[in-house]
Amino acid sequence: MFVSAIIAAGGRGRRLGAPVPKQLLELSGRPILRWSVEAFLASPVVDHVVAVLPAELASSPPEYLRGERLTLVAGGERRQDSVACGLDAVPPATGLVVIHDAARPLVDADLIARTVAAAAESGAAIAALGARDTIKESGGEGAGAARFVSRTLPREAIFLAQTPQAFRREVLEHAVRLGREGVDATDEAALAERAGYRVRLVEGSTRNIKITTPEDLAVAEALIGPHAAGPSSVRVGSGYDLHRLVAGRALVLGGVKVPFEKGLAGHSDADVVCHALTDALLGAAAAGDIGQHFPDTDPRWKDADSVGLLRQAVAIVAARGYRPVNADVTVIAERPKLAAHRDAIAACLASALGLPPGAVGVKAKTNEGADATGRGEAIAAHAVVLIERP
Ligand code: MG
Repeated sequence: MFVSAIIAAGGRGRRLGAPVPKQLLELSGRPILRWSVEAFLASPVVDHVVAVLPAELASSPPEYLRGERLTLVAGGERRQDSVACGLDAVPPATGLVVIHDAARPLVDADLIARTVAAAAESGAAIAALGARDTIKESGGEGAGAARFVSRTLPREAIFLAQTPQAFRREVLEHAVRLGREGVDATDEAALAERAGYRVRLVEGSTRNIKITTPEDLAVAEALIGPHAAGPSSVRVGSGYDLHRLVAGRALVLGGVKVPFEKGLAGHSDADVVCHALTDALLGAAAAGDIGQHFPDTDPRWKDADSVGLLRQAVAIVAARGYRPVNADVTVIAERPKLAAHRDAIAACLASALGLPPGAVGVKAKTNEGADATGRGEAIAAHAVVLIERP
């Protein structure tokens, strides 16, 4: 069945005291409206999205409101008028319509999918949360007066309506007709109930809060957490390197000169730890590898200080908008023992990454006499690094 979503964002609600309508306030760097629209565009069960907007926004929309699967229409006076405008604009093939309030930016794919599935089965379905608090009803005293409880309602029977609310097309058309005939309602489900349909309750989400006050905005920020821009704001990279041990070279590991009878062979200072970490950094940003940026055929890198290469990799990653968060390296060396140098190596690597020493882990292993590293012919290093877009 072809499913269209209507995002109701026609209101000019400025209850938050901001100079812009609340659906355009920013939540972790993106307008609330954008969160809602993108949630539905990303849903695998939604084919098309109609965003109902204030007229001035519909006529000159920002980039995030442009796309083939997105139709923009100007809203009406009341919410139900806006939904009616949206329903007029859904593609002809639409068999089911899911309505969502733009002020609920944290709606997730599962909630959209289970509401749509329930409506496909039962005709009408809404997301709702079972009441957790004891529910008191108050009598008709006017606002401002002292109020008293008239009775306590059975909590098990109380559900708090959210959106999404989904309807088979003919059900919504009937409900909207009632609205056009003058019936007032705060949501489409109420109109569908008035029209005589049974509206199914679907388990809502406690994260799916409605942004109405500045406190709601703070709660939503906290629910999103520090990596708000999505999974792509944090990336991980891994690196590996190995160099042969030869006589007549200094042994440099993680920028620290380690006293030993041999050193590592290579074009640069052959610092395997820095090389592994440099590759991890470049890999995390999908920015190529160490051989590509610092080829050993280039005389500039002859005997190069590999800490300098690591610093350049940090700059390459920074140019792509990322900075290191932490790193962990494992050095595989049969000899020498590295325990006494671990802190110095961690401090040197952390400094190159622009991090405090505690952000870099350094571990040393032997290979128990097996393979070339185990026989003391080479030293190898593994590194992982986390980077983030601040
Ligand atoms: Mg190397």
